[in-house]
Amino acid sequence: MKAVYLDNAATTPMLPEVVEVVQQSMLNNFGNPSSIHQFGRKAKAAVETARKKIAKHFNVSASEVIFTAGGTEADNLILYNAVLNLGVTRIVTSRVEHYAVLRTVEYLHKTYNISVDYINVSEKGVVELNDLESVLKKSSEKTLVSLMYANNEIGNLLPINKVARLCKDYEAYFHSDTVQAIGRYELDLQKTPIDFIVASAHKFHGPKGVGFAYVKKGILIQPILHGGAQENGARSSTENVHAILGMEKALEVSYSNLEGDKNHISAVKSYFIQQLKFHFEDIQFNAESESLEKSSYTILSVRFPVKDKMLLFNFDLAGIAASGGSACQSGASKGSHVLMSFLKGKAAENTSIRFSFSKLTTISEIDFAIKKMKECKLR
Ligand code: PLP
Repeated sequence: MKAVYLDNAATTPMLPEVVEVVQQSMLNNFGNPSSIHQFGRKAKAAVETARKKIAKHFNVSASEVIFTAGGTEADNLILYNAVLNLGVTRIVTSRVEHYAVLRTVEYLHKTYNISVDYINVSEKGVVELNDLESVLKKSSEKTLVSLMYANNEIGNLLPINKVARLCKDYEAYFHSDTVQAIGRYELDLQKTPIDFIVASAHKFHGPKGVGFAYVKKGILIQPILHGGAQENGARSSTENVHAILGMEKALEVSYSNLEGDKNHISAVKSYFIQQLKFHFEDIQFNAESESLEKSSYTILSVRFPVKDKMLLFNFDLAGIAASGGSACQSGASKGSHVLMSFLKGKAAENTSIRFSFSKLTTISEIDFAIKKMKECKLR
């Protein structure tokens, strides 16, 4: 073994069965789905079948699924629409959101003068629901709440049912960035009343550059990409047919053995925690990361008892691929906005590394990582 991949929150390898679907589609579905001839109709039928199957996983109808070029675009589509088309004048969110949400909200705030409330986050990175309720209570402005389901850096899970109900009680729209939860947690949108969710296929062993936004029936969306009015007028540009089919396959595979995969990945995570504690005395786990209930079973955020800017780099040299925060920040020296938002100064005292797992991660890979970490002489 030369290297282990423990950065599955950044992206996951495509599964062979997904590659096969994409390849077959490239060979067979080359028509433009908007063309009226048989080649176009074939591609269109393939896309619509994929849409129906994807919708079924979340107990929604196909017309509520809009294909996009990934999670960032889907988040942008929803947040822009809230402000520009749905009359939202206030966004309620938190400092631990992904930049796809935070930076879009900041932009909307600056450009359209909407107000933004950031919900308090505890020392464990937990979004405080009492605060959410008081913020919702304090104003009758048309509001959108944007809170992510599984945090991509620390793994914390949002009590999504409670938040959805609170939003309903206070008549606020609810958008959840579910990028890290799709394919890992079941989500029945008839039982959990969320207005908008988003997905990105490369996070669940699908292709990169494809995802979707779910928009609850009755909410009218205008495109942010203007052009040919594909996706029922909600998103222009020729559909990424092959990637959409690959995404559908990846989702089907993810949900076909969800419990088995979850058990396997949870066992890998627990073993890693146990080994880290055993070999590195003063190790700490950020937020709720150590818990398998309060945190995603695929993510572990570890604080090493060293202040070493080169740690991630040295791990990489040793053959351990992990991440400093989210993937987009791994090359940056700024540190993680998520960790800093609740650990404050403590975030800089030690070095935090995010390890993330998939069903392909094995116990022997963890053994390899621990062995290599020990060679890195952390003290
Ligand atoms: N939201 C979350 C929580 C993510 O983890 C990511 C990817 O890192 C994104 C949004 C952006 O997704 P994409 O890379 O598909 O644009």
